[in-house]
Amino acid sequence: MNGSLYIVATPIGNLEDITLRALRILKEVDVVLCEDTRTTGKLLKHFDISAKLTSYHGNATDKKHMYILDMLRDGKKLALVSDAGTPCISDPGVMLIHSIREQLPDVEIFAIPGPSAVISALSISGLPSSEYLFLGFAPHKKGRKTFFERIGASDTTIAFYESPHRFEKALAGLAEVLDENRHLLIARELTKMHEQGVYGTLFEILEYFKNHPDKIRGEFVIVVEGRK
Ligand code: SAM
Repeated sequence: MNGSLYIVATPIGNLEDITLRALRILKEVDVVLCEDTRTTGKLLKHFDISAKLTSYHGNATDKKHMYILDMLRDGKKLALVSDAGTPCISDPGVMLIHSIREQLPDVEIFAIPGPSAVISALSISGLPSSEYLFLGFAPHKKGRKTFFERIGASDTTIAFYESPHRFEKALAGLAEVLDENRHLLIARELTKMHEQGVYGTLFEILEYFKNHPDKIRGEFVIVVEGRK
């Protein structure tokens, strides 16, 4: 009998955001596949869960995929978690799920929903979100110009991720394609102690971060209003 795989969302900051179902699944499975075993180890320790952990990160080898597929062939129940948020959303897991769907179609794959930074940011943006464009991380070099041009041209709300040390560059990229009256929400450190939502026109956002360089730290989701 084939096993099953649970895609388990974990908190993006506040540990109270883990779901009861996520805790039960993490207790019940045979093995937890983790982006980083130390990060997940700390999370599980906090909830007093002892589980067998094995790493599954973005650079997983074919050997690792075979090892995981073999466990599923043996009927094992596995959970996949990333360091924070929902696995496979700009996080490792897509390749694994693709291999399972192609090679072991009888394995059941279950979503255990919970936090995701992009959905959390959209939910507090006040910008239309019945339709939106999620672009993951801005490319560092190749494709960067097209990435920002897509944002400039989009009629729907756009959301993307950015790291703190590239945040100012992202604002500069936006300044090249947006007119100054387009609105943005900068969602920083969601669910954490220094959580902040900075909302305003591009002009106001640029001014704010010019005057508050100390706020350019932590994790960011950038949400941009669609072109009117
Ligand atoms: N899979 C994750 C999810 O569903 O939220 C996203 C993983 S991605 C590798 C990490 C990026 O998500 C960060 O660089 C940041 O842009 C965003 N992010 C994660 N946690 C966040 C938080 N608490 N506040 C704001 N952005 C966050």
